[in-house]
Amino acid sequence: DAIWSCDTLEKANSLIHSRPTPICLPNYVAGELRLPSSAATTFIDSFEPKTGALLCRLPCAQQDDVEEAVRHARTAFQTWSKTTRAERSGHLRRVSELLQDHRELFAVWESIDQGKTLERARIEVDRAISNFSYFSTYILHEQTAARMIDGVALTYEHRSPAGVFALISPWNMPLYLLTWKIAPCLAFGCTAVAKPSEVTSMSAYLLGVLLLKAGLPAGVVNIVLGDGPTTGAALVASPLIDGVSFTGGTPTGIAIRRATAHQIRKHLSLELGGKNPNLVFADSMMAPATRERTIRIAASAAFENQGEICLCGSRIYVERTAYEDFVREFTEYVARKYVLRETVGAVASLQHYHKIRGYLELAAEEKATFRLGAVPPLLDKNEIQGYWIAPTILTDVARESALQTNEIFGPVVTISPFEDEEEAVRLANESEYGLAAVLLTTDGARMRRVGEQIEAGLVWVNCWLVRELGTPFGGMKNSGTGREGGDYSRDVFTVVRTLHLPAY
Ligand code: NAD
Repeated sequence: DAIWSCDTLEKANSLIHSRPTPICLPNYVAGELRLPSSAATTFIDSFEPKTGALLCRLPCAQQDDVEEAVRHARTAFQTWSKTTRAERSGHLRRVSELLQDHRELFAVWESIDQGKTLERARIEVDRAISNFSYFSTYILHEQTAARMIDGVALTYEHRSPAGVFALISPWNMPLYLLTWKIAPCLAFGCTAVAKPSEVTSMSAYLLGVLLLKAGLPAGVVNIVLGDGPTTGAALVASPLIDGVSFTGGTPTGIAIRRATAHQIRKHLSLELGGKNPNLVFADSMMAPATRERTIRIAASAAFENQGEICLCGSRIYVERTAYEDFVREFTEYVARKYVLRETVGAVASLQHYHKIRGYLELAAEEKATFRLGAVPPLLDKNEIQGYWIAPTILTDVARESALQTNEIFGPVVTISPFEDEEEAVRLANESEYGLAAVLLTTDGARMRRVGEQIEAGLVWVNCWLVRELGTPFGGMKNSGTGREGGDYSRDVFTVVRTLHLPAY
């Protein structure tokens, strides 16, 4: 009854549920579930955010086990890169169907492992399913344009798979973000060694079981578990890795850039942190219907998934004439709709709890006004009953405060006033980050005028988190380099040669 002998999700599910002691998750390498073989392997404990109880252990893969996984991915690349688009599309379709069949199982474990609500977890599993179905269809319809140049040469772009990729993901949307990388990587003929966050590895393990069942050729996807400094760093540095698609914090993105600086050939796609502005113009607070929409969107942008989404709008700026009304109605709405343990989950880890708590202590020291929430208690290690932080709304926070400049990545939002459009744009852009922004306004001309001045890769007007997988996704400034999605993912996972054929 070892966990690595579970060849179906049903067996794995009942084993994880029934074990009196937490199970140890295996890696998925060369089409097998197995523990690392290195004698130096250490183990990491992973806890349930909603209770603080030990959920599972995972091995921290060392360099030799990482290298072995990379070698399997290299070997698999020889054949996978030569498969037809129809073959690869079929494999992706099968994975999306299997995920659909096990939607609830994945959602339940994701919610237990990450702390998010079950409802939120279901949305993310659906998005993971879409990752596979979208790229399964995309590659069937991919086209290359040819051009005749001055009647002398017929020119076209020939793309081939870029090689073996390290796919590294964070803990906030574990399955969704890992599959957002795996699906296009496979679709474009590359193979992968994927590493989920050590904080949330359960869905990656379950995905390995699912891939076994899906009949993917061995070695096409390998999943190694472990922390960043050991497993992640070994993976990124491996000379047999051709590219890295990374989602996580900006400091880690910088470390990856540094570690690969001497390997120019390595493709890097870095999706990093954010401190996203949300601009509320007074016109959006005039009519009852737009007022309701403004409050609803600002609240969901701030508190969805406990604020643990890189795209969350955690700096709200409101036009002065509507400021007091907005703060009052927003606070009432959040208090009513974002209820801890019901619509708001626990934050992902004890370490993260302490980080957020530290920011709230700072808010108290700096004499910010807590319109909602308070500094959460220090947790005694022996009495932890989950990592719960209530939605917190702060006003009267100085512009230069770390609360306004640093990514807190939790259920904490600041609200500040602005005088006019020019100041709104200036405040929005006053950040080292440039991932996303929300504009709430009814003025059509302003939507474009302001939208085109915001330094962010994604700007939503009167909506938030609306996404079509073909659109470019990524950040400006310290929020990342490169874009992913549709044709942009193709740019990440393929190399291009321009062919000039004689025109006779
Ligand atoms: P993190 O950077 O600490 O870790 C992300 C992943 O990188 C983990 O798997 C970790 O083990 C690994 N890692 C850590 N150090 C490494 C190293 N030296 N080499 C290789 N891998 C290493 O981030 P996190 O705390 O897990 O996630 C939160 C961050 O992710 C936030 O900043 C958030 O904004 C960001 N994020 C960005 C996006 C986006 O699309 N831009 C999406 C989700 C989350």
